[in-house]
Amino acid sequence: MYLKRLEIVGFKSFADKTRLEIPSGVTAVVGPNGSGKSNISDALRWVLGEQSIKTLRGSKMDDVIFAGSDQRRPLGLAEVSIVLDNSDHSIPVDFTEIAVTRKLFRSGESDYLINKSSVRLKDVQELFFDTGLGKEAYSVIGQGKIDSILSVKAEDRRAIFEEAAGINKYKTRKMIAERKLEE
Ligand code: ATP
Ligand code: MG
Repeated sequence: MYLKRLEIVGFKSFADKTRLEIPSGVTAVVGPNGSGKSNISDALRWVLGEQSIKTLRGSKMDDVIFAGSDQRRPLGLAEVSIVLDNSDHSIPVDFTEIAVTRKLFRSGESDYLINKSSVRLKDVQELFFDTGLGKEAYSVIGQGKIDSILSVKAEDRRAIFEEAAGINKYKTRKMIAERKLEE
């Protein structure tokens, strides 16, 4: 499975629809300070379900919506989609291509879609369980993540190995089952 395409519209500095085709091999994003490089990785984290606005370098969630510039009025909707090539079926679904979309309106209304069908955040999270993708996984390595990999605390490193070993879905199911028993 690999990330094939990223589409951004109305997200942070990307007012116009921007389509990034990602070829195989190593892709580097270069550009002057403030040109939007980090906004691309923010868009990726956001569509994977990131809920922490701090991680996205904002102070309230609608900070991710294009706020306007000298020449342009602010927009009312941010939308980010990723298209994953799943021809190896490493995500265990029939689709060979999976598109995940997240939308946020200034009114606060938001939506997640998998292959154009509206889903819950939980469905997006479950889709990525143990794939290495997903907001808590190791596919996006920010500065904080490097610290936890290098951390002397075994628990911090263990979480990374658990995701790679593919046992997160069982841990999560166990946690949910235990919570149900307590209720
Ligand atoms: P550096 O090389 O300094 O790390 P960068 O290329 O990573 O820069 P970003 O941090 O991605 O740059 O982009 C910052 C720009 O995005 C700033 O100009 C900021 O005004 C703009 N920006 C952030 N949020 C919004 C928003 N909601 N609406 C419009 N522009 C935004
Ligand atoms: Mg940056």
